[in-house]
Amino acid sequence: MTTPWGLPDFDAHEDVHFFTDEKSGLKAIIALHSTHLGPAAGGARFWHYAKDDEALVDALRLSRGMSYKNAMAGLPLGGGKSVILANEDRTKTPEMLHAFGKAVESLGGRYVTAEDVGINVADMIEVARSTKFVAGLPNSAGDVGGDPGPHTSLGVFLGVKAAVKRALGKDTLDGLHIALQGAGSVATGVALHACAEGAKLSIADVDPAKAQKLADATNGNVVSADEILTLEADVLSPCALGAIFTEETIAALKVPVVAGGANNQLATAGDGERLHARGILYAPDYVINAGGIINVCTEYLGDGDASLVRQRIEGIPVRLEQIWAESAETGRDPAAVADGMAQRLIGRA
Ligand code: NAD
Repeated sequence: MTTPWGLPDFDAHEDVHFFTDEKSGLKAIIALHSTHLGPAAGGARFWHYAKDDEALVDALRLSRGMSYKNAMAGLPLGGGKSVILANEDRTKTPEMLHAFGKAVESLGGRYVTAEDVGINVADMIEVARSTKFVAGLPNSAGDVGGDPGPHTSLGVFLGVKAAVKRALGKDTLDGLHIALQGAGSVATGVALHACAEGAKLSIADVDPAKAQKLADATNGNVVSADEILTLEADVLSPCALGAIFTEETIAALKVPVVAGGANNQLATAGDGERLHARGILYAPDYVINAGGIINVCTEYLGDGDASLVRQRIEGIPVRLEQIWAESAETGRDPAAVADGMAQRLIGRA
């Protein structure tokens, strides 16, 4: 099949911009997948790519993912993403960040940037010196904004509860066993919420000291990173890496529910179908982990306070219910249903 521009990941993106600034060494791509629901929002990634083509593929895929995530979270935002191509030494200078800010500014607000891999809050402060189309800046006391992690955790916790209700018919996590992959920012919040509701936790991290610290704080149990995906439990909550579900790992799962915050959990589209075929209820990752972008969006739009953020995060389990209901009705797996729903929302069905 021929694909537009010869790019399999091109998905009718509205526009794709290439920027170079010789003086600062900036080389960046900004991809706008859709502005159907509002300005295209998505973070800036700073990454060294072996080939420039790979940066373009990343920008195309990630920007489409942001369209889906923002639409499913009910946000008045489209989807976009930028990649700044780092050299081998990963040299990042304030001049380069200013030039990147100017590139964002030149799009007149059609794209809104924030942090992603390789870009921290301090970098965003530099970027904000040359553009107003930026979010993820430090918040002053009482304002909406700041670290998205706790908001992501809250959404994941509410999503886990909704999945437990649907798959196991239980209104509470009290006494249930949750296998948690990861002991970082998102996992910590999920563990604390679940522990407060009486869940028993088994926690794994490639850094065993982190897992132990979180287990100590939640009366949990540390298991090895190799064991966590095959543990017998009520819920598996992946909160570490992507691409963990493959034909092989899905065959070995011993849980009725998979609901966690990690991005891109399915290695391929067929893996959503495989989970479904095994009767495992899956909470699509970009739906359940939208709490962080909800917080960033409310900061950027300035359209509400902490109670609006909370209200929007409480929409996550509602959206998951819609997905599972359509899945039950049509027999399609929840990941495919979520993609279809997102496409309808952005006018691409
Ligand atoms: P983090 O870096 O704070 O934590 C990730 C943890 O996973 C680390 O402690 C790391 O040691 C551990 N880890 C890595 N590989 C592992 C493995 N194979 N087994 C067990 N543990 C492993 O990151 P985070 O912010 O908590 O993000 C976790 C996931 O959630 C990522 O996939 C991220 O893309 C996704 N996510 C995060 C947010 C957010 O607001 N932070 C929002 C949406 C999605």
